[in-house]
Amino acid sequence: MQKMLIMFKPEDIETSAKEFISTYASYMEDVGIVGKGPDGYALYPSKTAPVREEHTDFFAEWVQLNDALSIHGVVGMDFYTDGWFARDPKYQTMNDKAVKMEHQICPNREEFWQYGAEIVKEIGSYPINEILLFGTGFIRDHFCFCERCRKEFAPLINQEPGRLSYALLQENEEYHEKWHQFRSDKVHEGLQYLQDAAIKSDEITGREHPLKLSVEVLLDPETGFAEGARNEYGYDYARIGEITKNVLINLYPWSPILPSKGSSEYSELVESLYFVNEFTRRGGRASLFRWGVTTIEQLQELKALGKDVGINRIVSTFHYPSDYSRRRESAIGNY
Ligand SMILES: [Zn+2]
Repeated sequence: MQKMLIMFKPEDIETSAKEFISTYASYMEDVGIVGKGPDGYALYPSKTAPVREEHTDFFAEWVQLNDALSIHGVVGMDFYTDGWFARDPKYQTMNDKAVKMEHQICPNREEFWQYGAEIVKEIGSYPINEILLFGTGFIRDHFCFCERCRKEFAPLINQEPGRLSYALLQENEEYHEKWHQFRSDKVHEGLQYLQDAAIKSDEITGREHPLKLSVEVLLDPETGFAEGARNEYGYDYARIGEITKNVLINLYPWSPILPSKGSSEYSELVESLYFVNEFTRRGGRASLFRWGVTTIEQLQELKALGKDVGINRIVSTFHYPSDYSRRRESAIGNY
């Protein structure tokens, strides 16, 4: 049995939350709504993040109806992809040429982990079952060379912070591996903050089943599929399995089309998803995710892939993120 979850934005729904959900309730086992988007704004009355006031009533009605109709309620939350917070240059992630990214936070920010943890607690105060966490890693291996990352990392390889460069890391395998380890530790430390907040919210609400945090991981041929993900983005499936137990595999985020069945790239993709077996065996749950699914053909393609790799949950959105072109450029542009 294949399950399909669509992550909605209030703008996607032309009717009221009540009308929409009562019409489709019998078809839906779970349904998602954005809680905090990549622009950094919350759609619920947050005390922590800035708020899109025009959507707060819709949000409240939506999650309460899910609960009343026993639909598995899912809320999306962008983490390091936070355009509002990233207006502050102090938090922007940057490459070694000091090119700052105005849409993404450096993951090496304990104060931002605390900010994220507050938002998890706020969203977790609603009667929902799961949060999908987007933007949970580094942009690429070429990030982050902000002042804080330089200062913390340089002593690990006996260098001066100001002399660190990506070229230096590439020239030295040992340095480069330390860099990967350093960044990966930051990503998982951040996730642990959010997971602790989810547990706290369970205690406060007395929720029957623990609030799940599903962590988006990007899987793209440009970044070496699953194998390249740790070094490029910093996340490690085994560690996510220990921390949150739920992973959301964003397929081909930087490519408009998936490889067709029977092609050698398709086999490569299937092979790169073998880690899911181990992940599931250890009690984790993996879902396949893709931005901008608008046709039945695209959906069937995802379902067929899911079947081939043993994943029975498909998650999608109708749209690409609003800052998609900037994200794509920063992830796969030329360096
Ligand atoms: Zn940094």
